Amino acid sequence: MILVSDLMIAQEKTRSTTRLSWVLGDGLLYSSNWIYRRIRIESSKIGVRFSGRTDLFDYLSCPHLYFRTLLLKKVIPYVENARPLQRMYQQAPQLPIQRLLQIRKNKILHESAHLVAHPILHLPSGDPADFEHVREFLLATLVSESFASAVEVIGAFFSNDPIQDWMYRINANEFGCESNEYRALLIKISGTLGLRSTFKFILLSFLCWHFHLPALSDEDLDRILHLCHGDQVIADQDRKILLQFFPFHFRVGDRFRTVVTEYYLRLSGMQQPLKDLIQFDFLGRLRDSATWIQKVDQLAEIVLPSNLVADNKLSPGDFLIAYSKTQG
Ligand SMILES: [Zn+2]
Repeated sequence: MILVSDLMIAQEKTRSTTRLSWVLGDGLLYSSNWIYRRIRIESSKIGVRFSGRTDLFDYLSCPHLYFRTLLLKKVIPYVENARPLQRMYQQAPQLPIQRLLQIRKNKILHESAHLVAHPILHLPSGDPADFEHVREFLLATLVSESFASAVEVIGAFFSNDPIQDWMYRINANEFGCESNEYRALLIKISGTLGLRSTFKFILLSFLCWHFHLPALSDEDLDRILHLCHGDQVIADQDRKILLQFFPFHFRVGDRFRTVVTEYYLRLSGMQQPLKDLIQFDFLGRLRDSATWIQKVDQLAEIVLPSNLVADNKLSPGDFLIAYSKTQG
């Protein structure tokens, strides 16, 4: 059981590490969660700003319709959700925090991930009536969404105590990848493929969900592995583990992938129905394009830079140990 005093003591201890000191968990995650910090540092480099006022009501009213403004302005709205808990702490520090409280989440990590991916994925504007241009636009949009989801999923493995876990969950979407079974598979796979390739595999699994590809054929798996891992041969038993791991990324609500994506296309001036647009060999297109292979690699580089993930066989646990050594 987590008490309000547990949270607010952790909040207080780490508030000097962030300017967003009234965002629950921001300081704690910045100082303790590798992925959270990486994304914050990379987003600062490209001029991302945060605001507790500008556009906040627009964003809270409908975050999905705010997406285009987000990309344009690079301002991420946030709520100061530590304030009510601070008052609760002063009045009754021993009260437990329960799910029922419905504390509003911040999505700073997810939105920042979109923004750091944007310069890599952004396409020159083209004719919105050109089917091929629209497909490429859709692919870039869904890779961005899959990247933001993969960042949130992998980041959860870098929080390693109940307070950090709680703070992480109040700053991230939940994709149904929180189970021990998922964690065990991820550790096995990162021991085989390495953490960077595992990250790419998670990203591409989410992408398959967006494209309504419910199961992987041998050929699909080869394409994904080529994108993740080049031409290195993967043993049959490891391929089986990957096939077990893949469907975990299909637990997101169905409405999101259809309704929200369709709205975004319309608001971007494109008229073609999503159900027609997604009918193409997207994995083949990625695998056969040197540009796309490079883009997927650049996205992984943002999250897990190769100079730090030098050993290709690092699991998240190993990585944390290696990383803490580099920090002295
Ligand atoms: Zn998103």
